[in-house]
Amino acid sequence: MLTTGPRGTRDILPDSSGYWQYVENMMREVCRNFAYQEIRTPIFEHTELFLRGIGETTDIVEKEMYTFTDRGKRSITLRPENTAAVVRSYLENKLYAGPQPAKLFYIGPMFRYDRPQAGRYRQFHQFGVEAIGAQGPAVDAEVISLAVELLQRLGLTDLNLFVNSVGCPVCRPVYRLKLQEFFRDKLAQLCPDCQSRYERNPMRILDCKNETCTHHAQGAPHMADCLCDECNSHFNGVKELLTAAGISFVINPRLVRGLDYYTKTAFEIQYAPLGAQSAVCGGGRYDGLVAECGGQPTPGIGFAIGIERVLLALEKQELLPPANTAIDVFVAPLGAEIQPVAFQILTAVRQAKLAADMDYNNRSLKAQMKYANKYPAKFVALIGQDELAENKVMLKNMATGSQELVDRADLIQMIIKGMEK
Ligand code: ATP
Ligand code: MG
Repeated sequence: MLTTGPRGTRDILPDSSGYWQYVENMMREVCRNFAYQEIRTPIFEHTELFLRGIGETTDIVEKEMYTFTDRGKRSITLRPENTAAVVRSYLENKLYAGPQPAKLFYIGPMFRYDRPQAGRYRQFHQFGVEAIGAQGPAVDAEVISLAVELLQRLGLTDLNLFVNSVGCPVCRPVYRLKLQEFFRDKLAQLCPDCQSRYERNPMRILDCKNETCTHHAQGAPHMADCLCDECNSHFNGVKELLTAAGISFVINPRLVRGLDYYTKTAFEIQYAPLGAQSAVCGGGRYDGLVAECGGQPTPGIGFAIGIERVLLALEKQELLPPANTAIDVFVAPLGAEIQPVAFQILTAVRQAKLAADMDYNNRSLKAQMKYANKYPAKFVALIGQDELAENKVMLKNMATGSQELVDRADLIQMIIKGMEK
């Protein structure tokens, strides 16, 4: 127990933290290019925010939240996603008073009581963006193209972008009735979840993963055929802009979200080689969410990308950069009594902004050279009794094997010169 973390959690160890940094840096870089700025919200929020902001009939709220009562008897939930919290922060900090749309991104851990398997964890990480305060289709296209650009910049191929429109509170009720009509005589064959969805949220039957439900959903009416004029022209606008930007997409009528505050554009990016966990990105418009959270009616759109799944995809395509543990200098004292001088040298080297380390275990010369090679180190600064007495250091260039006796005062200059060669 003490030596095992909770189910569904993972440690990101030194041998892979470099991959995370690589991917996160790319996310920051793309956001900079698209003029999105970072927002960091707390990892826990009032449970009420997620009940409102995610919806009580969703899988997340029904069965996946980490909810607890704190010592002040408040109901608190570890964030299962971040859109609701960003909207809460937008309202609380009056970001609506600044330039609109507010273009925000976040990177951080999310928590869901999911069934752990490859690409599915209980603590996982998302990179997401939200553009709040713009209603035209151009911002939808921007958000989608940001996700596509990121994944392409990372080198991923075999990506599929699916888009759909889920309509709005004007046209959706008509569609819901049509769906209920369609499923009425199939109801008994649907899974228990879908049977309860039938009344509460029939659109969600369309994205049920149960095979029988998928089978019975074939031939179901499409939302795209029921869109009101406004939703229709918005959808056409998004398609036109994506095409203009050279982004290929497939229309997927089964891509749905059944809640009132999800409107118009819905999209997903899949990386098929990941199998059951192939969705790397999910997003869409939420024109009703800000009002649902207590603000003035304000349009918004965003997406979230699962970082673990992106890393799995990069691993599959062998696109992860090699780990970089290399250092510039390894300081090698030959004898315990030389440690203070070696440490003094090490300190000066680090202050000169070189990457450096030293031996702390009184290893033999041979063992220290082996140790230095493991990083690998570009230079080894050897200090034995003779060097100590003369205020010198034996500087060995590990690439060429050449070594030279240098004055301690010149050491850093010599290393920098040697590195330039
Ligand atoms: P799924 O259908 O795979 O459960 P979802 O619809 O619950 O996905 P979203 O809420 O849209 O997922 O979250 C956006 C992205 O976050 C997903 O596309 C996925 O990449 C990632 N994600 C979601 N849940 C997990 C999880 N438990 N572990 C790892 N990544 C996850
Ligand atoms: Mg899920």
